[in-house]
Amino acid sequence: MNAGTAEQTYDVIVVGAGNAALCAALAAREQGASVLVLERAPQEQRGGNSSYTAGGFRMVHGGLDDIRNFVPDLSDEEIANTDFGVYTAEEYLDDMARVTEYRTDPDLAEILVRNSTDTMRWIREKGVPFVPKYGKNAFKHGGRFKFFGGVVIEARGGGLGLVDAEFKAAEKLGVAVRYGARAVSLLHGEDGVEGVRIRTGRLHEDIRARAVVLACGGFEANREWRTRYLGAGWDLAKVRGTRYNTGDGIRMALDIGAQPYGHWSCAHACDWDLNAPEYGDLNMGDTFSKHSYPSGIVLNAHGLRFLDEGADIRNYTYAKYGRIILQQPGQFCWQLFDSKVLHLLRNSYHVKRITKVTANTLEELVEKLEGVNPAQALATIKEFNAAVMDEVAFDPNVKDGRGTRGLAIPKSNWALAIDESPFEAYGVTCGITFTFGGLKISTRGEVLDIEEQPIPNLYAAGELVGGIFYSNYPGGAGLMNGAVFGRLAGEHAGKRALGHAQQAS
Ligand SMILES: Cc1cc2nc3c(=O)[nH]c(=O)nc-3n(C[C@H](O)[C@H](O)[C@H](O)COP(=O)(O)OP(=O)(O)OC[C@H]3O[C@@H](n4cnc5c(N)ncnc54)[C@H](O)[C@@H]3O)c2cc1C
Repeated sequence: MNAGTAEQTYDVIVVGAGNAALCAALAAREQGASVLVLERAPQEQRGGNSSYTAGGFRMVHGGLDDIRNFVPDLSDEEIANTDFGVYTAEEYLDDMARVTEYRTDPDLAEILVRNSTDTMRWIREKGVPFVPKYGKNAFKHGGRFKFFGGVVIEARGGGLGLVDAEFKAAEKLGVAVRYGARAVSLLHGEDGVEGVRIRTGRLHEDIRARAVVLACGGFEANREWRTRYLGAGWDLAKVRGTRYNTGDGIRMALDIGAQPYGHWSCAHACDWDLNAPEYGDLNMGDTFSKHSYPSGIVLNAHGLRFLDEGADIRNYTYAKYGRIILQQPGQFCWQLFDSKVLHLLRNSYHVKRITKVTANTLEELVEKLEGVNPAQALATIKEFNAAVMDEVAFDPNVKDGRGTRGLAIPKSNWALAIDESPFEAYGVTCGITFTFGGLKISTRGEVLDIEEQPIPNLYAAGELVGGIFYSNYPGGAGLMNGAVFGRLAGEHAGKRALGHAQQAS
């Protein structure tokens, strides 16, 4: 191991301190490298978007026996009342291909999927506890929970629990962390990357390293880049998570010749409380999310439906529906539910800071939907109610085929008439989660230049890697992506740095 010295040379510098960065730091340290983590945020806001998550991971699993390895304290009752299902590598790969419209980089998708279970085992060994993700990815129906959509477990304590446990593991292994340290450029010589220039307050400082891992997020919190790359209107989106992911890592790498890759004009964005603050609030975490639209209908300012609320399991639609909401007049809409489905609404519908109205009649409800044409809203609800396929049984845990007939915009599953009071409606807008465009990496996590050659000593992982998600995203793949590629990049960066160190000595 090459310890950090007075000249501040580390084997590996990891830029960022979210899930991808901490996995990279742990993996590099496992190789014996000295590691410095640079976190732009102050300590109390550390952990990037990863801290704001619900902590759900999408991984390959073979059912109960596999899940028990991650949650050994499952009770007999939980086992008896739960169908964990099975999620094969082939299903995961199919989901990646389908939701990205067959554009996902096949090599990177293979790495993500084939390493998912083993990486989860590795994270757990590092000290991250997991619990089943009841209530969000499995509803109690007919007395049993049946998991759907490939996300079965989440970190105990959600994103904050995950990041805290990863920080503890890193500190235990001797990883150094500097808070309030913003990386501003890469030190770059003839032999490749040689370190990082940082800014702390007004001071600039150069820190040398034998390898650098960029894991400092996308550009979702950069209003100007959002408008430039995602297009008009994206300046108005609310940011679901950290304010610190402004594309610095992408810019620093492009400045030295890295290749831009992936879907630069698209982002993960979803239904988010209309009155949520401009950036995420760590006290609220993910609770401004409003993902229960498959149980109801959604109306825009004209009082019209504009998307198929039941097109698929919510894990496969929520990340693209924010974009459609942003295109609506006033960038908002209302989600409507009746009393039959209120028990299916996720916990995030039961928090205090929420844009919600309730009513005992539909006439009263539509008058309360601020900004919406009430007469058209009432007509839309009645037209929807008349189109529901009553003869098909409702089942929230599978795509039940209970759709609508004859509507210009169908609801393909879980269609129930909105006709039993009390009624509830929730005002939502577009919340951006992370951007899809970024850097191109090799299958060893190396950042590639425009000629497809690795930029020596430079690695990347997490949100700022392009080519994995296009157009849409399967829920729970963001943390898995950061963990798998963070571990990979950290391992190779550590090996390369130690190779260098040995050559030098
Ligand atoms: C509200 C919300 C809920 C989500 N829920 C889930 C979920 O349940 N499951 C899931 O899989 N995904 C979820 N996601 C997506 C997930 O958060 C991301 O895909 C993933 O966490 C990204 O990890 P990362 O390490 O690449 O980036 P981040 O966790 O965002 O980390 C980036 C880090 O870089 C730092 N940084 C930025 N610029 C600099 C700089 N110049 N110098 C130094 N440091 C810098 C930041 O401060 C931060 O520490 C959610 C996201 C949000 C916002």
